[in-house]
Amino acid sequence: MLTRFAPAPTGFLHLGHVVNALYVWGYAREAGGRVLLRIEDHDRQRSRPEYERAILEDLAWLGFQADGPPVRQSDREPVYRGALARLAGQGLMYGCACTRAELQQAPPGLDGERPYPGTCRSRGLPLADGIGWRVRMTPGEERFDDRLLGPQVQDPSAQCGDLLVRDRLGNWTYQFAVVADDWAQQITDVIRGVDLLASTGRQIRLARLLGRATPPRFAHHPLVMRTATEKLSKSDGDTGVRDLRAAGWAAAEVLAHARALVS
Ligand code: GLU
Repeated sequence: MLTRFAPAPTGFLHLGHVVNALYVWGYAREAGGRVLLRIEDHDRQRSRPEYERAILEDLAWLGFQADGPPVRQSDREPVYRGALARLAGQGLMYGCACTRAELQQAPPGLDGERPYPGTCRSRGLPLADGIGWRVRMTPGEERFDDRLLGPQVQDPSAQCGDLLVRDRLGNWTYQFAVVADDWAQQITDVIRGVDLLASTGRQIRLARLLGRATPPRFAHHPLVMRTATEKLSKSDGDTGVRDLRAAGWAAAEVLAHARALVS
């Protein structure tokens, strides 16, 4: 069993991450598996090296040790180019010049997301800089058995439509980079918060389109909520591991607190 902890360096480590780390390392230990650390800095505008340093330092302070050096998405351009070539080779990629404002006018889909309406699908735009790059998602269900939530059925074409692979600023998207990495790193188990549940069908689809016959197994765990309806955000200073450290908490106390929040 090989899993990963995959924070985005767009903020400091907070209790939501600690809960996720407890699940990730917990599953791995139980299965005699390993954990890789992946810094998901695909969003170059929002990622900061100082957040990465702080995340690594706080994880070490909490005692979460990865089985290998951290991997950084910004160092993995060839992996994404290779994955892109696989999609393009099947004629699945196209350029998309839709603006954000245009996309926001698309009618909402089943669960509040706005599936891409396919405006540029047959315009024949090349994969050029300055525009988005999308992959075609044909209608069809993806099924998976979540280890915590049981059987799930999702139709990515109805949820999100043709998925953005690279944005107009030249960033590989989260959805694409995470699937390319999970496959390239041979990740067998993805363990993450339930806020990413809706992403799983499209990630399984993308993995299949890339040629991965057996997608990873998934487990989506509860989130730490700020209130009954508001999940924690990285900017919430009051839940930051740094702040708790500064306030004199011991690592064991932070871990116990995070455990209590989801039990
Ligand atoms: N990088 C994502 C985040 O910070 C997690 C990715 C994943 O576990 O799939 O929320």
